Amino acid sequence: MNYHISQRAASLAPSMTLVIDSKAKQLKAAGQDVVGFGAGEPDFDTPQHIKDAASKALADGFTKYTPSSGIPELREAIANKFKQENNLTYKPSQVIVSSGGKHSCYNVIMATCEAGDEVIIPAPYWLSYPEMVKLASATPVILETSDKTEFKVTPEQLRAAITPRTRLFILNSPSNPTGAVYTPEEIKALGDICVERGVLIMSDEIYEKLVYDGARHASVAAFSQAHYDHTIIVHGFAKAWSMTGWRLGFLAAPEPIAKAIDALQSHSTSNPTSFAQKGAVAALTGSQEHLPKWLAEYAKRRSYAHQRLNAMPGISCVNAKGAFYLFPNISKLGLKSLDFCARLLEEEKVAAVPGIAFGAEGYLRISYATSLANIEKGLDRMEKFARRIAGTAA
Ligand SMILES: *Cc1c(COP(=O)(O)O)cnc(C)c1O
Repeated sequence: MNYHISQRAASLAPSMTLVIDSKAKQLKAAGQDVVGFGAGEPDFDTPQHIKDAASKALADGFTKYTPSSGIPELREAIANKFKQENNLTYKPSQVIVSSGGKHSCYNVIMATCEAGDEVIIPAPYWLSYPEMVKLASATPVILETSDKTEFKVTPEQLRAAITPRTRLFILNSPSNPTGAVYTPEEIKALGDICVERGVLIMSDEIYEKLVYDGARHASVAAFSQAHYDHTIIVHGFAKAWSMTGWRLGFLAAPEPIAKAIDALQSHSTSNPTSFAQKGAVAALTGSQEHLPKWLAEYAKRRSYAHQRLNAMPGISCVNAKGAFYLFPNISKLGLKSLDFCARLLEEEKVAAVPGIAFGAEGYLRISYATSLANIEKGLDRMEKFARRIAGTAA
């Protein structure tokens, strides 16, 4: 039968990270020893006290519908987090809990953008942003950056890209896929332009807590009342509490936007999973002792991988200050990023994601959310591959 697929769905590009990931898993299932640098999630387990809180909620029968934007207890805990950690005042009614940070992003774009609107997205970007913008019938406007500017857009670039149709600017610091962290001054400068030109900012701060070398996360909403009024913060439990499978994210927005998203969510997914929300309350209000340990481990892996990558022929890599990714430049080796990754997987059994998936040819994304032993093994193989391609094999 000839099924009609809507233009909306048919025009979507499938997630390339998931494609590489499934190919790597296939090889693994076939008994091959694959090293995976493709993961977009922490390799640590969810802290026990969070699991216990969800188990208890389940055992206590907390298994029914909740208010669609989340239980009051959790929305309050999130508002407290913003107050204490970011000096931002949100009422619980301005906080919406959703089924993952990705879902929060989707809600923001759906509630604020429509046909004719432009959304400015710096590249390399998280690959779902442009697809979500297209789902809202709006137009992604991509701002290119490179390793020369540590993958950060400049105020001049942003200013030049704004038109009367610009609705939203998407800021993601620390960044997936590059690990770039904008300084507070840089964030303020970008925010100033959005305030001046009346453009909303969707600030995806899900990697807030994963910063290194003394880098400091700043939320654009915190610089002034005007910045606050122009900002929607997207956040979630996936990264800093290693809760990717729980599907829990949240956002904080000016009241009218929160209200619109509340309505949107009530007619689509309704509430995020009831007992998972109880786990999230424990994540915010309980011990944070896991975090310094994880950060120390990530920092060690990052330094090691950064130094190894820069020692490979034809490869250079800026040292990212956040998240758990490095974004090495492979352009000197003369292979397209997709060919590079396909051959690296085929010939050396190492999975990485091609830069083109994130709108940046000539790079790859290496996730170091895997053990140091794995990183060492994978980079040994990658070095062999790079030597072969560069014609410098011993
Ligand atoms: C992981 C991630 C998210 C949210 O992921 P969820 O699993 O949906 O919570 C949002 N933005 C970026 C940039 C991410 O890397």
